[in-house]
Amino acid sequence: MEKLLYVPNPLLRQKTKKIESVGSYELKIAKKMKEIMYSVPGVGLAANQIGILKQIITISFTDQETKKEVNYNLFNPEIISYSQEKIFMEEGCLSLPEQFAKIERSKKILIKYLDDNNHSVMKEVDGVEARILQHEIDHLSGKLFVDYLSSLKRNIMIKKVKKYLKNNIDV
Ligand SMILES: [Zn+2]
Repeated sequence: MEKLLYVPNPLLRQKTKKIESVGSYELKIAKKMKEIMYSVPGVGLAANQIGILKQIITISFTDQETKKEVNYNLFNPEIISYSQEKIFMEEGCLSLPEQFAKIERSKKILIKYLDDNNHSVMKEVDGVEARILQHEIDHLSGKLFVDYLSSLKRNIMIKKVKKYLKNNIDV
């Protein structure tokens, strides 16, 4: 059974593989990912965070400005272009419980992915959605948000996670 993986699990550092097409198997993985993400809860999850080395992401959050619920899956997501404008936002990660840091990323991105119906979608995303997707797409190539920090800060956070897991979670 799949479950959420935490640092320093080596699967979080692996590059995931593109899927051939979106079918019932891929949708089943995305559904499982959503269940795990909701149970924590979180706003985004990449497949390798539950040990599946495939390019699948799920995202779910409520936009504070528009009050709209953003909830969908992305298969083989790619960032086509990044805005010049960059902003700092605080990030956390389900694989690094209770760790947060301000990270600088592009404000807007142009993305391309396959949707649940195996249709290719290209769209521009902004704000929190662009933030979550940049974070999750990084996961698919084995990159974590703490990689943007100094090695000193990164190592402190990873140590804190190990301590947290020892006290809170059976791993
Ligand atoms: Zn994450």
